[in-house]
Amino acid sequence: MFQNKNDTIYEVLEKRGISRRDFFKIATATTAMLGLEFTQVGHVIAQMETKPRVPVIWLHFQDCTGCSEAITRSYNPSLERLILNDVSLDYHETLMAAAGHQAEAAKQATMQAYAGQYVLVVEGSVPTGFGMTSIGGRAAVDILKEAADGAMAIISVGNCAAFGGIPAAKPNPTNAHGVWDLVTDKPVINVPGCPPIPEVMTNTIAHILILGTLPELDKLNRPKMFYAQTVHDRCVRRGFYDAGLYANSFGDEGYKAGYCLFKLGCKGPTTYNTCPSIKWNDGTSWPVEAGHPCLGCSEPQFWDAGGFYQGQSSLIDTPSLAVAAGAAAVGVVAGAGIAAANAANKRRAEHATPAQAPADNEEDKS
Ligand code: SF4
Ligand code: SF4
Repeated sequence: MFQNKNDTIYEVLEKRGISRRDFFKIATATTAMLGLEFTQVGHVIAQMETKPRVPVIWLHFQDCTGCSEAITRSYNPSLERLILNDVSLDYHETLMAAAGHQAEAAKQATMQAYAGQYVLVVEGSVPTGFGMTSIGGRAAVDILKEAADGAMAIISVGNCAAFGGIPAAKPNPTNAHGVWDLVTDKPVINVPGCPPIPEVMTNTIAHILILGTLPELDKLNRPKMFYAQTVHDRCVRRGFYDAGLYANSFGDEGYKAGYCLFKLGCKGPTTYNTCPSIKWNDGTSWPVEAGHPCLGCSEPQFWDAGGFYQGQSSLIDTPSLAVAAGAAAVGVVAGAGIAAANAANKRRAEHATPAQAPADNEEDKS
């Protein structure tokens, strides 16, 4: 995994046998991946040619390794895996061949050689209860703080590392915390989800590695490019929500008709994530499209925020026109597609006659 300390990204790729022509292709694809204008390709090339590579150290604490599992399912792999695995990922307990003392030595060597320059990625919540979770005889919080000290930035992937996740759910027996509760003197970027969408993780990491800057963040330190809108804003079932047409139970007529899942506990209206736009499995589908309510996995305390299948208390009234307008404003093709689908669903819903609409939704139409 180790490269020459001063190699640029381009030099590392060149040593891997990547041709100049393929490098340009990679730089072009990277520009798109980072959500930059095509005119920025030259800037990305310059960054990759001149900036020394930035190593990544990836730590695990109280986690199920689902986030790492997800990231290995990232599509657009030739690019992101190339940047992460071949160029930058120096230490990852699950993916690296070394183990035990050898792995620890690799981590220490990277921390010393790149002090102040590496990116620390954390997966899993950090237990702070007395005697909880030690690795090699050291408390998790000490391991975190040691690695955080020399990091230029920290990325918390998954709800556990960001907000405590499942381990921090009541009664929180290990007194688990998200990283930003414990590290307050370094930039901490939260990339929550359970797991996060793979492309959201890789693109956030690649943004720092290649551009050397932090992405713009929201008030929960989530990158705005992925967490600026709610799941509800772009949901394919949104037209039905606006028309007051809901599934009342799994398998009822409303459910079969593809109606809104709000009454089945959908947390889409209060959950900020990009699932309807990027989707999962190479854009194949996403939970609500596949028939399951959003659980709110990118929000703090989602395990304690009411039952997963318990409807929220009141509807959130947002005009559906704002959905299409919002999608057009950000110029995201996928968003526009979703908005169009929303509009089509809304038209379908508006033209549904009482005979077409399930009887058990009649009460919801007023
Ligand atoms: S409540 Fe859920 S299913 Fe209904 S429109 Fe919003 S995100 Fe989609
Ligand atoms: S639909 Fe909701 S619960 Fe499902 S992955 Fe997206 S944000 Fe998480």
